[in-house]
Amino acid sequence: MRTTLEHLLATRQSGFDPTALLMLDLDRFKAINDTLGHLIGDELLKQVAQRLERIIEKTGVVGRLGGDEFQVILASESARNDAEPVARTIIETLSRQYIIKGAPLTIGCSVGIAVAPEQGQTVETLTRNADLALYAAKDGGRSTYRIFNEDLLVDAKNRRQLEDDLRLATSNGELYLVYQQVVSTATEEIVGYEALIRWNHPRRGNVSPAEFIPIAEETGLIAGIGEWVLRTAVADCAAWPGGVRVAVNVSPLQFANPKLPHLIANALTASCLPPDRLELEVTEGVFLQTDDDSGCTFKTLKDLGVRLALDDFGTGYSSLGYLQKAPFDKIKIDQSFVRGAIMAGNRKAAIIKAIVTLANTLGLETTAEGVEQQDEVVFVRELGCSSIQGFVYGKPVRAEQVAADLDQRGLSAQLVGHRISRPPREKVILKALLVRGSDRNEATVRNTSGGGAMIESASLTPSDVGTSVAIELQQGSIWTGIIKWVDGQRAGVELSRAGRSSR
Ligand code: C2E
Ligand code: MG
Ligand code: MG
Repeated sequence: MRTTLEHLLATRQSGFDPTALLMLDLDRFKAINDTLGHLIGDELLKQVAQRLERIIEKTGVVGRLGGDEFQVILASESARNDAEPVARTIIETLSRQYIIKGAPLTIGCSVGIAVAPEQGQTVETLTRNADLALYAAKDGGRSTYRIFNEDLLVDAKNRRQLEDDLRLATSNGELYLVYQQVVSTATEEIVGYEALIRWNHPRRGNVSPAEFIPIAEETGLIAGIGEWVLRTAVADCAAWPGGVRVAVNVSPLQFANPKLPHLIANALTASCLPPDRLELEVTEGVFLQTDDDSGCTFKTLKDLGVRLALDDFGTGYSSLGYLQKAPFDKIKIDQSFVRGAIMAGNRKAAIIKAIVTLANTLGLETTAEGVEQQDEVVFVRELGCSSIQGFVYGKPVRAEQVAADLDQRGLSAQLVGHRISRPPREKVILKALLVRGSDRNEATVRNTSGGGAMIESASLTPSDVGTSVAIELQQGSIWTGIIKWVDGQRAGVELSRAGRSSR
């Protein structure tokens, strides 16, 4: 393939004659090899090669680079225009079912494209650029193709730089932890803190963990970083008053390390923190490891006495099977369901409610993540979540600040978020029934704050002022109170049940 490409690039007639290079990589081929064995893997590769040859025939050259990587070179005059349709055909054809030793099998394929001369004039640049495009295709969800562009190169360089910097970050003391409160909805007391890593980059300033954790995972740096996080968080927590817990995020790669339980036991002993004050947060990613040892790891961890939480629930496969596989103590409902759940016209509240019901049935706690506004606190409590985490109780702070806060204020949590979900305020609604004596009328709760609620109903009249009412919310709870004022179709209700609104 290399010789062919070299020859084609060297013997182009005019300066703009196209040569298209397509880099192919099968999606999750390793899983097939690992689970079904190398003989099946080899047979699959043969059939893939046959299909590729049939697609390309005389229009180009097909070769295998090794493993599950293939290459296609198109060198006709129309190669520039052909590359994309050919990529589509390849992806479509290779993803059709295979029959191997009598059993059906499927696999996906990702493709990266670079066309000479505009996207590389030498074998090296063209190959590198097609590779970058392939990388982007994989990143873009696999079973898709990408054409090289300069941005990919800039991204790759940035990433390389960040990788190099991250290697030094630990030893340079650029990483630190901040802690975010987890607050019980029932008692409004702090039950624990989640440790969140921060990187203060010498030139870039703060780099988000969403950006550097994936790099740490890919480079294997996560092992060292993860251990540091664990030890630091456990030691910090042991020094805090009030018996609060600490939650630590554990990446799937750390989880796959058989030494993890040992490491955790070690950190706990070193700091004298009781195991039930440590909660490990894992995402569904831990179940996607090829070897199925995760069940065993879960059990060992449970035997140590640490708590387990399933993080970001609702964003991945949200497989109920996972809930059965592992002895979780808690489900963390992803912030994408919480944010905006209170607004009209979405199903988020119903989804949260369903997750809570499921969790309750299984005897699991729930934490709503990303609660920002005070009216969301009320809302989330109504939906039955056992705890709340979010900027409504403040931004995450350093360990020393946590200790100082706990010393000063004890466990009671302070609301600092905006009172109501402002934008757009008019849309903050909960469907409800307004009950006055035997009258039941449709109403809408516009907002709740300071122990009151503003409701809207066509049935309101000025003579309602002073009337005792009940507001039956769609999700099943009932608020009671007295109408304090009526203005057109709107009324202010002073709520009598404690805990119905946030101050
Ligand atoms: P996560 O575990 O789901 O952490 C919650 C994220 O939501 C944090 O982002 C937190 O700052 C943010 N957040 C909390 N409340 C609110 C809110 O009210 N509004 C908004 N807009 N955001 C809120 P952060 O710190 O940027 O972390 C992002 C992700 O990076 C984490 O998601 C976690 O998956 C990962 N991560 C953070 N620290 C570590 C670590 O030490 N180890 C590992 N493996 N992953 C970590
Ligand atoms: Mg987390
Ligand atoms: Mg989360």
